[in-house]
Amino acid sequence: MSSKNLESESPSPTGKGPKELRDEVLDAGLCTVCGMCLGLCPYLEEMGENVAFISDCRGDQGRCYAVCPRTATDLDALRKATIPDKQTDFVLGPHASIWMARAKDEEVRKKAQYGGTVTALALFAIETGRVDTALLTAWSQDPDEPHASSPLIAKTREEVLSASGSKYTASPTLKVLDGILRESGEKVFVVGRPCQVLALRKRMQIEDPTFPVERIGLVVGLFCMWSLSYRDFEKMIRPLTGDDRLSRIDVPQGRFVVETDRQSLDLDHDTVRTHSRPTCQSCFDFTSELSDLSVGSTEWKDDWNTLIVRTEAGRSFMDDAVEKGWIEVEPFPEDRLQLLRQASLTKKRRVLEQIDAEAAKSGVTPYLKIPQEEKDFILRTHGPGTEE
Ligand SMILES: Cc1cc2nc3c(=O)[nH]c(=O)nc-3n(C[C@H](O)[C@H](O)[C@H](O)COP(=O)(O)OP(=O)(O)OC[C@H]3O[C@@H](n4cnc5c(N)ncnc54)[C@H](O)[C@@H]3O)c2cc1C
Ligand code: SF4
Ligand code: SF4
Repeated sequence: MSSKNLESESPSPTGKGPKELRDEVLDAGLCTVCGMCLGLCPYLEEMGENVAFISDCRGDQGRCYAVCPRTATDLDALRKATIPDKQTDFVLGPHASIWMARAKDEEVRKKAQYGGTVTALALFAIETGRVDTALLTAWSQDPDEPHASSPLIAKTREEVLSASGSKYTASPTLKVLDGILRESGEKVFVVGRPCQVLALRKRMQIEDPTFPVERIGLVVGLFCMWSLSYRDFEKMIRPLTGDDRLSRIDVPQGRFVVETDRQSLDLDHDTVRTHSRPTCQSCFDFTSELSDLSVGSTEWKDDWNTLIVRTEAGRSFMDDAVEKGWIEVEPFPEDRLQLLRQASLTKKRRVLEQIDAEAAKSGVTPYLKIPQEEKDFILRTHGPGTEE
């Protein structure tokens, strides 16, 4: 028996369902491969690096549509439901404070992408019993797809460490979350890209006893400007690296650096970016605005992270992690803050202009509903971009 629920058992609050998911997202090439719908419905399957219906779903409503980050989304309502005690900041989303942060443990920093804040927070959560499991993203174990990424349900230090480092391809990590909550009774620490955090928050809005939201221990969102199609990336990288496995990818200013155990390749950023997933062009969120804690690079000090505290749960978790010596934090410098704001604003402006232009051409309402005041602010604020 499938461990997934049948869609028809719980209708979507939007009145739309599988037909609209297919028309508006899957056939339109807008799936971010967040994985959220895959855990809900036995008719949806991962196909290569896309998602498809494997047989006809006869439901005319469905949670698959309601949870998707590329279907109708009232961003303001979602912000108010998720972070009710904070006014939003139109550029960085609702937040309480911003820090420089890093893991105190040197082994963590050595393995991690930058300061190892995410890995240290996941270890803190598991090793102090705050959660049972961390839902992370590791390199794929499939020998035919070595540069793809996939979900990892981590319970031990070794498992958490094995997921450290950024994979710049889109992993459907959330596909296992429904199963964990439905079947294991465990409390989970979730790490995801902004599109995944959006899908998770939409899922959390649906009343469903099989998805007990109190067992989502903490939601940590990564900063994200774009992700790669792994098939295209594979085609580009394989002639250069042969059968070597990648040990690290980094995107320092204007570069794209790929390392294997034997070599380091410095690739042209703009060329690599042509292989980014088309749906990333419609992504309004750079800093995971609906997470409890958001983590990104500092674009300055490689062994530190930027850490944005958003919710009360995030604040108390960070305070505990600092107090008990798992991470250290320093004030975020004002000049770096301006650069961070500029990077986020540049992404938002580009996306708003594009989705508005597409809506004007097609007559179809954009998936994202944003207050007019916020749109006006983003479109009239100008300055040099600093995208990764
Ligand atoms: C596709 C992508 C694009 C990014 N773009 C930017 C950017 O433009 N600017 C910026 O400042 N930061 C960006 N980041 C975030 C940055 O690369 C680091 O993940 C972040 O700074 C945390 O660093 P760390 O040292 O704490 O990471 P670590 O402690 O090494 O932890 C990294 C965590 O990321 C998770 N992870 C890795 N790959 C993925 C993936 N594909 N999907 C979901 N989760 C994943 C792993 O589960 C791991 O727990 C991006 C990350 C990804 C995955
Ligand atoms: S919910 Fe996620 S995986 Fe499913 S169609 Fe939407 S973007 Fe794709
Ligand atoms: S840019 Fe947006 S849609 Fe693309 S992977 Fe990052 S968060 Fe997801």
